[in-house]
Order: sequence, then structure tokens, then C-alpha cells
Amino acid sequence: MIYFDYNATAPVMREAREAWLNVTEKTGGNPSSMHQAGTRASIVLADARERLAEYLGCHPMDIIWTSGATEANNMVTHHFAKTLGEKDEIWISASEHPCVHDSAKYYFGKRARLIPVTRDGVVDMDWITGELADKRPGLVGVMAANNETGVIQPWREIHSICQAYEVPFFTDAVQFIGKMPLKGLGALDFVSGAAHKFGGPRGVGFLKIPHRKSITPLLHGGKQEGGKRAGTENVAIIAAMLAALEVREKQISQSLHLLRGVWRDNFELELLRALPGTSIIGANVPRLWNTVSALMPEGDRKHQWVVRLDKAGFAVSTGSACTTGKEEPSHVLSAMGVKAAQAMRVVRFSAGWETTETDWEALLKALVKVQGELHHTKAA
Ligand code: PLP
Repeated sequence: MIYFDYNATAPVMREAREAWLNVTEKTGGNPSSMHQAGTRASIVLADARERLAEYLGCHPMDIIWTSGATEANNMVTHHFAKTLGEKDEIWISASEHPCVHDSAKYYFGKRARLIPVTRDGVVDMDWITGELADKRPGLVGVMAANNETGVIQPWREIHSICQAYEVPFFTDAVQFIGKMPLKGLGALDFVSGAAHKFGGPRGVGFLKIPHRKSITPLLHGGKQEGGKRAGTENVAIIAAMLAALEVREKQISQSLHLLRGVWRDNFELELLRALPGTSIIGANVPRLWNTVSALMPEGDRKHQWVVRLDKAGFAVSTGSACTTGKEEPSHVLSAMGVKAAQAMRVVRFSAGWETTETDWEALLKALVKVQGELHHTKAA
């Protein structure tokens, strides 16, 4: 099986597995306990916190460990639901992951306004500046990079605008972390991340909050995480997350992602040549180096591509993992103006650090074959 679904989850890398095993075997204590076993666990936790803070460029105490990005993102919307006034709005981009979109709608209803995106999937900066001229939302949330299209948002620029208007800014950086240089992320107010998108274990992530500020807890109980998130920290998977991130940071600092971007670009060129009528979603704007969201010329029901490619030995996706199985067009594509019938023909190929140039070439061959089969079936 050649895996092209890294945006859904990435395989756990060796370094992460080793870190998990090492901490599990050697550090059995509860990090909140006073004895030596507890102290050893709390040292591992403090070390992980410091390393993550260094990568992000923030203070270690501004980081809260969570069970993943869904929890981290819900913490943000929940916090603002508890602290903003009854009439206050929050603004989030129309292409946010469901865990931001749905939790914002759950807590704020119509007061969670969607920032429109252009046909290429980038947030409409004119909308933001225009609306800010006479309104102040309690929060602006725009993801760093989109899970379905790989489109990178101008989060630095939006942050500067928000700073000028003294509006807190939040970015879901789940798909960005471990793929792109992190510089500048630590300066944002709220940043979320999840280990399983960059080779760490599933079920662990973090939230970075503003310096020296508190957050209304979502989980109540013990005084872990400075009283901001109750529950015994899973020390071993946190250590594994940092082990994975360390490898990714080294690869990025060596610019190894740039070559992978060239392989992806070559694949897209070849795909457009081999299958006329195909188009690449977000082709004209900066995108993550690993993601291709392709509107295919055939295949009216979206599962056709996934099922046939799966049989051919390729794991691909139709959109975000959370929407797999639903026949509704993706809200991300709809927000970009892609028609429902077209959205059913969109296939996402998301590579990882382990993907080779040969894997991309093999995928292209398989696509040409499947296209032929679909064309044949339609004609029959
Ligand atoms: N945000 C984005 C952009 C994602 O891609 C995902 C996962 O698909 C999430 C949030 C949710 O992360 P988790 O699976 O850690 O809850």
C-alpha cells in the first residue's frame, strides 16, 4: 500500500515509538506526585514543554497539553463563549476544520461569523479590514493551512491587523506544524497542534495561549497544567510527540521539504498533461508542499476514485478524514465556490516525509488507469 493520506494521519515514526517506550519503561510516576518517580515524570514533561516553546517561540508556561487538536480548538471557542458578552461576535474563516467551525457555531450560533474565502481558498483580506473598520469581534480565527486543499493562509498578516485593532487571534496550525518553518507562530495569541499529523502518536496535542493569561478550563478536576486542563498528563505520548517534532524541525531546517515540493509540483504538471480536464484546487496560491486537491474529469460519486485506488494499492482521501463517508460536498470546497457536483470529483492526495518521487510516479500511473476504467464504465 502506498500511503497518500498524511493529512488524515501520518504513520508514527521510529523516533516517536522509541521515545514512548523509553518513557513508559523508565518513568512510571504521576508527574503531579511529590516522590522521585513523580519528579522524574515531571522533568520529562517540563523538558518537552521547553522544547516545544523553543520551536514555537513562546514561553513554556503558555503551553497546555491536550488530547489533540479537537480538544485544543474547543478550549478556545469555549473560553470565549464563557468570557465574551452576550452580543459579541467571533469571526472564523469559512474553511476551518469542523472542530473549530462546529464548536464556534455550537457556542455562538449566528454570532460566529464566517470570513469568506476566495476561489483559491485564501481568506478575503478586504472583508476582514472592511468589517474591522466599524466592528470589533471578540476573536478572529483563521487556520494556518487547510487540511483538504493545503492552502496556506496569510496568518502573519491577519495577526498584524488583529494586533492593530487589539483583537485576539487564533490559528489552528495542525497541518502546518511539522511541514513548514514555525517561525512567528509563538507570537500569536492562540495556536493549536496535534502530534499525529507529523509522525507522533494519535491522541495528543497542545494549545498555546497568550503569555501570562489564563483560559477557562474545559475539563475540571485536578490542578494539572496550572489549573487550565485537569487530568493526568500522558507523559510518554507527549515525549513521543516532541521526538517526532524534533526530527521534522531538523528536516525543515535543512530545507528538505523544498525538494518534496518539487516532486509534488511535477506530479501536478504530469497529471494535468495526462488527464486533460483535471484542475488543481488552490493552484494559484501558496500551498503545503505535500497536498494535491484535484478536481478529476470523471467519477461523479466521490468514492469511485478512493475505492478504485484503494484496490490498486493507494490510500487517498476525498476531503478531511472527519467528513469521509458523507456524501455531502465538503464545506471547504463549497466556500471556494466549487459546485456540489464537481466537489464529488475532488480527490485529495497528501504525501508525507517518507513519500518518494517514485511513489508520486506510481500514483500518476494508477490515476491514468482508473480514469480509463471510469471512462469505460460510463461509456458502457
Ligand atoms: N484541525 C485540522 C486542520 C485538522 O486537519 C484536524 C484533523 O484532521 C484537526 C484539527 C483535529 O485534530 P485531532 O485529530 O488531533 O483532534
